[in-house]
Amino acid sequence: HLYNVLQELRGNIRVYCRIRPIISSSEKSCIEYIGNDGSLMVFDAYKPQNTHKTFQFNKVFGPTTTQGEVYKETQALIRSVMDGYNVCIFAYGQTGAGKTYTMCGPSSRSSEEMGINHMALNDLFQISCTREDIKYEIHVQMVEIYNEQLSRLLINCNGTLEIRNCSGNGGLSIPNARMQIVQSTSDVLNLMNWGDKNRAFGSTAMNHRSSRSHSVLTVHVHGKDISGNTIRSCLHLVDLAGSERVDKSEAMGDRLKEAQHINKSLSCLGDVIMALAQKNSHIPYRNSKLTQLLQNSLGGHAKMLMFAHVSPEADSYGETISTLKFAQRAS
Ligand code: ADP
Ligand code: MG
Repeated sequence: HLYNVLQELRGNIRVYCRIRPIISSSEKSCIEYIGNDGSLMVFDAYKPQNTHKTFQFNKVFGPTTTQGEVYKETQALIRSVMDGYNVCIFAYGQTGAGKTYTMCGPSSRSSEEMGINHMALNDLFQISCTREDIKYEIHVQMVEIYNEQLSRLLINCNGTLEIRNCSGNGGLSIPNARMQIVQSTSDVLNLMNWGDKNRAFGSTAMNHRSSRSHSVLTVHVHGKDISGNTIRSCLHLVDLAGSERVDKSEAMGDRLKEAQHINKSLSCLGDVIMALAQKNSHIPYRNSKLTQLLQNSLGGHAKMLMFAHVSPEADSYGETISTLKFAQRAS
């Protein structure tokens, strides 16, 4: 199939679409059809004529897909970090579409519905315990980007937070940020809870801020084999700011500024991904903090996966189309 050949040429970029369940059962849906070949058809339930549009992704997960099923399709990519690959996983979509659910699980963090970050860390720690030929050290960092500025969550920092392009090792790109060594998933979850507390300055404010900022959990892996060869790689799990457009006539002041920063950084991310997919010689990493931060892990031999999250309600049709278009540019 031509599609498969193209995918292989583009190699290391994959796009999965995930549709969350309808929350209120009285709502109409804008999802017409979900194919098991990665195709998806949506339509405007209020104006059904001629609004049916088809999109193609590597996979589409419907509303009944479990966290475990999603992880199963992500696991090989995540495990490749232990072999030295840099991996970035992004959750993209409008606020409320399920980004945080996929990455972190429901807010209660119950064990059955845990998110990719939890399952990934379990997996990586398990591999690190069972491999006798390589000794691994795992460090984590959590960074938030709000209004094009880095803020510290899990990082203790002795100076200004600044991104440097340290090429080669795919390693630390914020030199002043101290990393936290971790030995188990519960170490990481404790750190994440601590991070959440750190930024919980009132829960409404926190909800607002978390949907308006990009949060990046980075797992740094350092492996050494018996003959002294080393592996350095990292896994970035990125919960992006909500992609919804803010009505310019309504947003003012801080809200307008936030919206402009988000627009700019998401479109920069789209430009970088597209330039990588097209194998352009110039990749515009420098245009946003997020792409600067991830520069060493985007492109080259690095692997990337984007989850395009959509809300299935008819009211969300406009945002759903724009999310699907954004994601299709990358795939
Ligand atoms: P976002 O991070 O994109 O703003 P959330 O992940 O917070 O969205 O999801 C919005 C709401 O929908 C939350 O209450 C969440 O628990 C629920 N939800 C999202 N995806 C799913 C899913 N696949 N199954 C069940 N509930 C979901
Ligand atoms: Mg969220």
